[in-house]
Amino acid sequence: MTIDPVVVIGAGPVGLFSVFACGMLGIPCYVIDTLKEAGGQCMALYPEKPIFDIPAYPAITGKNLIEQLKEQAAPFKPRYFFQKEVQKLLPQKDGGFLVQLSDQESLQASAVLICTGGGQFTPKRPPLKEIEDFEGSSIFYHITDPALFRNKRVLIAGGGDSALDWALELSTSAEVTLIHRRHQFKGQDHSQEKLQDAIAEGRIRLMVPFQLAGLKGQQGQLRAVLLVDDQEAVVEIETDYLLPFFGLDIQKSPFQDWGLDVEKGTLKIDPATGQTNIPGIYGAGDCVTYPHKLKLILTGFAEACQAAHFIKKTSGQPYKFQHSTSKGVLGF
Ligand SMILES: Cc1cc2nc3c(=O)[nH]c(=O)nc-3n(C[C@H](O)[C@H](O)[C@H](O)COP(=O)(O)OP(=O)(O)OC[C@H]3O[C@@H](n4cnc5c(N)ncnc54)[C@H](O)[C@@H]3O)c2cc1C
Repeated sequence: MTIDPVVVIGAGPVGLFSVFACGMLGIPCYVIDTLKEAGGQCMALYPEKPIFDIPAYPAITGKNLIEQLKEQAAPFKPRYFFQKEVQKLLPQKDGGFLVQLSDQESLQASAVLICTGGGQFTPKRPPLKEIEDFEGSSIFYHITDPALFRNKRVLIAGGGDSALDWALELSTSAEVTLIHRRHQFKGQDHSQEKLQDAIAEGRIRLMVPFQLAGLKGQQGQLRAVLLVDDQEAVVEIETDYLLPFFGLDIQKSPFQDWGLDVEKGTLKIDPATGQTNIPGIYGAGDCVTYPHKLKLILTGFAEACQAAHFIKKTSGQPYKFQHSTSKGVLGF
């Protein structure tokens, strides 16, 4: 007897580990994310930052952790649905769910595991005409491959940690101009000190107070960016890339519309089983709450494992606890 897939909502680190945890118990997974790639906060917010509290990794960057998690999930052949949003979770008579996606597609699920973390985040886009023509080719809101900018002209816009960190990082291999609408930066003090050194040494050109005003180029390739200062004077800066770091808009999932109990926007679950107030709907990771919950990746991994085991125990199929060393994984 086969078991219908579990629909995992959210392909952050916890959603990815859920695929492994379910897979080890013989449960296939569909994974849905509104973003166009897996990784959640690790990829969207800090791909190049080292994480120090993942067991057995003294240090691992957000990007590398996600690569490892995808590799760990791969033997269980998850089916990913990117750039899709869940609209409705409809309980079925047999105890499963019909999961309705934004594009009319529906998925049959034996259970639903919600791993929506901090919510759906989208980068704040500067309101520039025809910006979409350059996004993904000359304009990026997060960096996954710093080598792309080697020996290129890069214009970075913003005054927070991301803008400062990337200006400093890329200044070792690219021609970097940093613009900000104010004279003051919000980045950490030590980054601001390093920035002053880099400006003094001529590694970064600073332009303040300037804002983005227009784009020039064709076929997805930027040629120049127009900037306007606080006196409305416009200047044109030639550049190959524009990296706007203006923060993120975050939208929480409509848990209450799905009939789920929430506390301060997070799902209330039983940590022993991962179950919400609706039997068959589970939660793990940053989107859940219970007494003394820690918003850490390793905590989310354990929650995903608890949920996977309870899903199997209540599936009507035989359940047996086994260590991975006994069960093994295909391909190893
Ligand atoms: C700067 C920074 C540094 C951090 N450092 C550490 C650290 O050192 N150690 C540590 O343990 N933790 C750290 N964290 C926290 C850690 O990133 C989170 O605990 C972790 O990402 C939670 O994983 P998750 O899978 O639950 O959620 P997320 O990573 O938030 O992923 C959720 C995914 O769900 C998707 N999603 C949301 N809503 C929907 C929807 N309705 N439909 C479909 N998809 C949806 C999102 O697009 C996203 O991809 C840090 C966080 C930040 C911001």
